Amino acid sequence: MTSRCTIVAGGAGFLGSHLCDQLIGRGERVICVDDLSTGDSANVAHLVVQTDFRFVQCDIVDPALTDLLADEPITGIMNMASPASPPAYLLRPIETLRTGSRGTEQLLEIARAHSARFFLASTSEVYGDPLEHPQRETYWGNVNPIGERSVYDEAKRYAEALTMAYHRAHGIDVRIVRIFNTYGPRMQPDDGRVVTNFINQALSGEPLTIYGDGSQTRSFCYVDDEVAGLLALFDSDVTGPVNVGNPNEFTMLELAREVLDLVGSDLPLVTRPLPSDDPKLRRPDITLARDLLGWEPTVSLRDGLRETIDYFSAARG
Ligand code: NAD
Ligand code: UDP
Repeated sequence: MTSRCTIVAGGAGFLGSHLCDQLIGRGERVICVDDLSTGDSANVAHLVVQTDFRFVQCDIVDPALTDLLADEPITGIMNMASPASPPAYLLRPIETLRTGSRGTEQLLEIARAHSARFFLASTSEVYGDPLEHPQRETYWGNVNPIGERSVYDEAKRYAEALTMAYHRAHGIDVRIVRIFNTYGPRMQPDDGRVVTNFINQALSGEPLTIYGDGSQTRSFCYVDDEVAGLLALFDSDVTGPVNVGNPNEFTMLELAREVLDLVGSDLPLVTRPLPSDDPKLRRPDITLARDLLGWEPTVSLRDGLRETIDYFSAARG
């Protein structure tokens, strides 16, 4: 048995499954815990044959989880479990809040019992509709605490607060990452996020749906870059929070044009209402990640989109 044993909660999801691959690849024991609410067991099917990989289908809120993991020599816990796309968390408002609060607390208790390192996947959404641009980790954010998106934003803000409270009160070794919009293979094609919508609309010959006037911005990070950043933080002695994302910023109109160009299509764009509290601008300041982790993204939007289009194209057969 290898000396490191990491729980990846949410390990059957998009980012979690790539993390499982990387951790298994470097010879660690990996326990993937997932309730398959927004993930897919197919994302880790290729790992189930590995002796150092275990899949536990369980909600992180379920108290049975602690007993299910009791005999494992846990050295680290990466908490990736949460609905992540706006349609997914708006469909499960109470579950999202419970996952971020009670689920995170149970994982912190398990980390405490095993003296394990605890890693929290937080989000750029803690900055809300930001009044500071680009966003540095010192910015406290502009979140509507009772808006529809608050079920996700406040769950993550609470999870950050709880993680720091366990660190201060119990001396737990913790890491907090704030992930900015990430895309790539293994996203669920119907997750409703902009990159999957645009690519699948373009591949189906349907108009691309622009919410609002399309002038809002996001900064898109390719999954390989993101996962390298997450592991660099997990392995470091930096508590964080640390932003991990790609600082190259695009409007949704620019993203739509890039996707159409790569697919070789001149499909029209159609306008749809802007969701409530949709952030107008988002771009990470990644000075901390560069200086403390020696990490920065290397994959351009065009190259990352090409890989993602190939993946969705192949998945459609
Ligand atoms: P995803 O939906 O593909 O993965 C989340 C996984 O967690 C899924 O497999 C889901 O089934 C599982 N899950 C959800 N609730 C659970 C629960 N209560 N118990 C057990 N498993 C549960 O989403 P993703 O994009 O891979 O996101 C992973 C993490 O990264 C999330 O915490 C998300 O908030 C965070 N994040 C992602 C992005 C991004 O752009 N992808 C940006 C910011 C933050
Ligand atoms: N968006 C869009 N068309 C879509 C889906 C989303 O214009 O079909 C917009 C959405 O309003 C937001 C941006 O794209 O401004 C990013 O949305 P996504 O759901 O991917 O992520 P988030 O809002 O969480 O950053």
